[in-house]
Amino acid sequence: MDPYSIFGEIVAGRAAASRVYEDDDVLAFMDIRPLTPGHLLVVPKVAARSLAELDPVVGGRLFQVGQRLAAALRVSEVACDGVNFFLADGVTAGQEVFHVHLHVIPRTPGDGFGL
Ligand code: 5GP
Repeated sequence: MDPYSIFGEIVAGRAAASRVYEDDDVLAFMDIRPLTPGHLLVVPKVAARSLAELDPVVGGRLFQVGQRLAAALRVSEVACDGVNFFLADGVTAGQEVFHVHLHVIPRTPGDGFGL
């Protein structure tokens, strides 16, 4: 396993991020290059480079926290009326940071984001 990933540094508090939620298993923070306003990432605290390495119980927690954040985004100042979840697993799928992460992407009409 790669001992370094920027998300591991963020989890450990050695790299800065706008943290929005944290519990024993997962951390959520703002994406540094948001595809739409309010774009969040939810990551496991125990590093897993890929879905194959991810504890499925923690995978369930990622989805559960993403679900709660999606609900919160709808009533926040982001005021989205839709949300995309996205997870890239592997280079071919577009994964760039090798620490599993769930994208939570708020959507508003005419936001110009064509996922
Ligand atoms: P991937 O293509 O691996 O699914 O997405 C990686 C995501 O991580 C991208 O949306 C990118 O903007 C985000 N990202 C990369 N480096 C950093 C960082 O240092 N801090 C934060 N907050 N997000 C990052």
